[in-house]
Amino acid sequence: MSQEPLVRDAEVAEFRAAVLAKLTYAVGKDPDHAFDHDWFEAIALAARDHMVEHWMDHTRQIYRKAQKRVYYLSLEFLIGRLLYDSLSNLGLLDIAREALTDLGVDLERIRLLEPDAALGNGGLGRLAACFMESMSTLGVAAHGYGIRYEHGLFRQAIVDGWQQEQTENWLDFGNPWEFERPEVIYPISFGGHVETVQDAGGQQKQVWWPAETVRAVAYDTPVVGWRGSSVNTLRLWRARALEELHLERFNAGDHLGAVAEVARAESISRVLYPADSTEAGQELRLRQEYFFVSASLQDLLRRHQNIHPSLLNLADGAAIQLNDTHPSIAVAELMRLLVDTHAIPWDTAWDITVNTLAYTNHTLLPEALETWPVGLMERMLPRHMQIIYLINAYHIDSLRAKGIHDFDVLRAVSLIEEDNGRRVRMGNLAFLGSHSVNGVSGLHTKLMRSTVFSEMHKLYPDRINNKTNGITFRRWLFQSNGELTSMLVDALGEDVLDHPEQRLVDLEPFADKPDFRKRFAAQRLSSKKALARIIQERLGVVVNPEAMFDVQVKRIHEYKRQLLNLLHTVALYQAIRAEPGTNWVPRVKIFAGKAAASYHQAKLIIKLANDIARTVNNDPTVRGLLKVVFLPNYNVSLAESIIPAADLSEQISTAGYEASGTSNMKFGLNGALTIGTMDGANVEMCERVGAEHMFIFGLTSQQVEARKRSGEFNAGGDIAASHRLNDVLQAIRGGVFSPDDASRYAGLIDGLIAYDRFLVCADFDAYWDAQKRVEDLWHDPAQWWRSAVLNTARMGWFSSDRTIREYAEDIWKALD
Ligand SMILES: *Cc1c(COP(=O)(O)O)cnc(C)c1O
Repeated sequence: MSQEPLVRDAEVAEFRAAVLAKLTYAVGKDPDHAFDHDWFEAIALAARDHMVEHWMDHTRQIYRKAQKRVYYLSLEFLIGRLLYDSLSNLGLLDIAREALTDLGVDLERIRLLEPDAALGNGGLGRLAACFMESMSTLGVAAHGYGIRYEHGLFRQAIVDGWQQEQTENWLDFGNPWEFERPEVIYPISFGGHVETVQDAGGQQKQVWWPAETVRAVAYDTPVVGWRGSSVNTLRLWRARALEELHLERFNAGDHLGAVAEVARAESISRVLYPADSTEAGQELRLRQEYFFVSASLQDLLRRHQNIHPSLLNLADGAAIQLNDTHPSIAVAELMRLLVDTHAIPWDTAWDITVNTLAYTNHTLLPEALETWPVGLMERMLPRHMQIIYLINAYHIDSLRAKGIHDFDVLRAVSLIEEDNGRRVRMGNLAFLGSHSVNGVSGLHTKLMRSTVFSEMHKLYPDRINNKTNGITFRRWLFQSNGELTSMLVDALGEDVLDHPEQRLVDLEPFADKPDFRKRFAAQRLSSKKALARIIQERLGVVVNPEAMFDVQVKRIHEYKRQLLNLLHTVALYQAIRAEPGTNWVPRVKIFAGKAAASYHQAKLIIKLANDIARTVNNDPTVRGLLKVVFLPNYNVSLAESIIPAADLSEQISTAGYEASGTSNMKFGLNGALTIGTMDGANVEMCERVGAEHMFIFGLTSQQVEARKRSGEFNAGGDIAASHRLNDVLQAIRGGVFSPDDASRYAGLIDGLIAYDRFLVCADFDAYWDAQKRVEDLWHDPAQWWRSAVLNTARMGWFSSDRTIREYAEDIWKALD
């Protein structure tokens, strides 16, 4: 980047001195004897100092301008590594690299030492991380609130082909990015009972006498926006006991009992629930949800009161976004704080609550809609249960007053589900307590209106709105694909870094320039070589970087249909074996993803992938034509290595099930071509990129709906119609890939035939044909790379900056 050489030399010298000072005085190490990890800490601390300066400026400015605050409440933040993110956004990446080279330290090697902050499961948590970065970039005065899990998402090992979960200890070496705030503490209570008392004025009042109280302690991580523009705060809560040691018990010799309370309290922030898209029906999970919601609301009310005389104008100063239903107990907690603690009348409090809260829905899967047993709620949060009953009573009364008496309607919109044991419906609670309810892609929002929330939507027709997800281009292009980024800067100028949403389209004419296409292909090849090295290191499998890299990386879930991809893999394997002399496109099928620990079917699919990989990779007939790899422990860092190396992006969920998807956008931005269904944000990608530059196939969501209504889920007909599918299923069922246990997949295949809930068999032939089209295009490199360049050029709209601007304008009213 153009800069006066002298100024630059001075900056390099300054950074070098700062790192040395941190190493000496903060880490306490002599440069001659420092370990790589010491260097990492010193560099991170030096970078953090730069952020802190911007942070304080920014915070002062927010107070001065009395900017509206946005609070993003999320049980998950899937952050990944922060070193390059911070250095790059501060404009210090090259400076740091040079400064460290002078010291004989390789920044790239140091980068790999940072553990991923994996405080999330998948897309929902990664979205929260992208949003934090975009809010800083756009200057939204935002605070993220979540839990500082001691152990993030489990580390996945593959042992004999099976997933094994291991504890992730990301904090073992400390965390140089965060500031502990031992003075920012809130009490969080559970259990006990509620008493009705008369206050001095003769008014009835509810008093909660809890049985247990823990402390929430704040840890702040600064989040810097592009070019250091502004710095927001991610505030994560850690649970501590009120007393660290029960001294009386300890002195009486009960050494374990003396710390029992500590263990119980601290278990709240011990682990992230490894459940993705399915309800984690655990008492501890509800404790986690209430814990972080209560701490966050107490904190933001205090901040509001610091600048405003009362809470009556809370909605003018604050907007609270609930990321899925996990924080939806906020509706009852905010009511409790306003009514019980701050003596605001119920109706006023309700208006404040609804005007302040907004809710984002992430799934329509019935089994993933969060509900809690009424009994558990009454035991753990007795006052909140009362408040929920009261909200429900007013809600149902207001409907009756409007002349709505239809029992089915009232049952659908009630906060209490009566069918299988009484349960509180958190989705309906979040809907009712929010002024905005948004979906995360056009199709998903449409389906919200017509399915889960159809009755609510009729009552509140303006409430549901769409905010199609996005990704931050800083991490998913600039940091993860430096080579492509340099090409873009060469072609379009530096401005593309600041305004990729507007400027990326200017790349379109370059799709017709053979030289540019060649450079584009060369970048891909070098990323593929780097990924091939990782594959060899981790799996001992040698893959050819010239082969097509066909990639499906995401959580393992039946609706995402890794199984469909595996069936295609087997079909391809059989076809190549039958006619090895044909002009096959050499392919490497790359899979990665974690399965929830209790999700047996998903774990069996991982085993199947590994069984197929072993068979295929050891078969000399297909050597050079087909390889299959399952890379263990998918996380943000692995995604950053895989995505720039992908030729083909697999986005093949059953239509109507993937709310949005965001890896589809990451791949498209990096120029991979998508094979996918008309699901989630694939639909919008198709509108913008053009169907002729993607490989769209399969049943549409309407067709899937029709199949559901007909109740026809037996796959017998689909199999009878497809020899190829039949052969594939027979081979897997018969133990071709599991000679050590021939019946391992009998249940899986029989189940698929009897009840093909996700229509894997129904879409198989269409998928095979789409894969044929992929091969045809691969044989025509000029057209392949033209489409690839156009994919990158047309992805600008999928920036999370665009998404955040829409939230800020439509929902939060928080842009100046
Ligand atoms: C982007 C991302 C996801 C989301 O992937 P989808 O394919 O959209 O489900 C999950 N995990 C990680 C690590 C990611 O980076």
